[in-house]
Amino acid sequence: MDSQGATLPPHVLIFPVPIQGHVKSMLNLAELLCLSGLDITFMVSDFSHNRLLKHTTVVSRFNQYPGFRFQSITDGLPDDHSRAGQEVMDLLPSTKNITAPLFKQMMVEKNLFASETRRPVTCIIADGSLPFAGDFALEKGIPLIYFRTSSACSFWAYFCIPELIEAGEISVEGIGMDQIIESVPGMEGFLRFRDLPSFCRVNDINDPNLHIMKSVTRQTTRAQAAIFNTYEDLEGSVVSHIRKHIPKIFTIGPNHFLLKSRLAEKKADNSILSGSFWAEDRRCLDWLNAQPPKSVIYVSFGSITVVTREQLLEFWHGLVNSGQRFLWVTRPDSIVGEDGKNQTPIELEEGTKARGYMVGWAPQEEVLNHEAVGGFLTHSGWNSTLESIAVGVPMICWPYFGDQTVNSRFVSEVWKIGLDIKDTCDREIIEKAIRELMEERKDEFFERSQKMANLARKAVSEGGSSYRNLDALIDYIKTMIV
Ligand code: UDP
Repeated sequence: MDSQGATLPPHVLIFPVPIQGHVKSMLNLAELLCLSGLDITFMVSDFSHNRLLKHTTVVSRFNQYPGFRFQSITDGLPDDHSRAGQEVMDLLPSTKNITAPLFKQMMVEKNLFASETRRPVTCIIADGSLPFAGDFALEKGIPLIYFRTSSACSFWAYFCIPELIEAGEISVEGIGMDQIIESVPGMEGFLRFRDLPSFCRVNDINDPNLHIMKSVTRQTTRAQAAIFNTYEDLEGSVVSHIRKHIPKIFTIGPNHFLLKSRLAEKKADNSILSGSFWAEDRRCLDWLNAQPPKSVIYVSFGSITVVTREQLLEFWHGLVNSGQRFLWVTRPDSIVGEDGKNQTPIELEEGTKARGYMVGWAPQEEVLNHEAVGGFLTHSGWNSTLESIAVGVPMICWPYFGDQTVNSRFVSEVWKIGLDIKDTCDREIIEKAIRELMEERKDEFFERSQKMANLARKAVSEGGSSYRNLDALIDYIKTMIV
């Protein structure tokens, strides 16, 4: 590199798993790094890229950072594949078999995306769930940092799968759903079998998905460092267990909140970075404007969860019978019949329109931050959980799969900022939970949620743990230039 090249900034390749929650959270990371002048190549699937182009302004937003580039690649699935429900698991073999070799080829042919104005990639920040990106980095001697988009608590539960198997706590015969688990250090006494990551519910101890999740999690230790989208006051004690295996961990969450704080500090436009794969229906904000403070329960199950028509009706009756106002997101592809095929969303009856509003996709961060919202009925995806915690909105958790079963236990039993109704879908239980959250125990949940939100605000403000850790991460990336 000539003397001019020697002054070029580090060049980071960011590679998320091509699904909504992962892409959105890694876009936040990308902008945080751009703000510090780093060059970024953001590797995104063709499918995700098209959705972003269609439904967001990310391209114009990132145009203000001359060092940022999108690079798209296939995720190996046909365009009309649902990428929702259990079928999202098809991304595991498709990215491994199709995306991985193309990625390697592209990196080599494009000389690690070097140009006259950019160094070849100096560091790869890969989604922890994309081990092939880690394989490539290690093979080529490129520094590797894994970004974990899930909670530290669920990561740690996944990490302990070998110990759980060894102790007979994952057993096909079944140890009972409510049996307390002893093999996840730090969670003894409150984690039940039903709260383990859903992949632990197996009919065969050699279940391929269980073993994939185990090895994907364990291989995180191959990286020089890991980034977690969490904050020390929320999950510091869990992170301390993980640090025994991965000494260098940067907790920089909630990273959407840290981004907001950093943009405000620079007096830049700090509007929310929308990374939505669906068109946001902003009319729901007008509807919220007409509702009294803290009167609305927001209902959304994220980007992957699917429900049957029967389950949908249980939620509908539960919501209506609770007597509360509700804003309900039903993604166009979220209702499936017994044949697994999509069904059309139900229409609200005339009589309930006064109290309810339904949309196909909402500007969720804005909704949660709206003063009319007093509760969140969620599937406990980690982004949704963090977005709710950051603005002090208590939750009712109805986890669907994966890490969500652990997150929901932490919401209800550790942080005590909500209720967990996992493994049920009954109108009476739903109604009772909504009344409890929004009326009977409202003050108690609100007070604790506000405390957590204040700690999140502290973490992302100057001097706070996530704020400092981001600076440390950037310094660390700068040391990787050879
Ligand atoms: N989201 C949104 N509008 C909606 C529903 C969800 O913008 O109507 C966003 C939400 O803010 C979050 C992401 O989609 O950032 C979902 O990620 P999460 O980890 O909660 O769940 P997943 O979709 O991965 O199951």
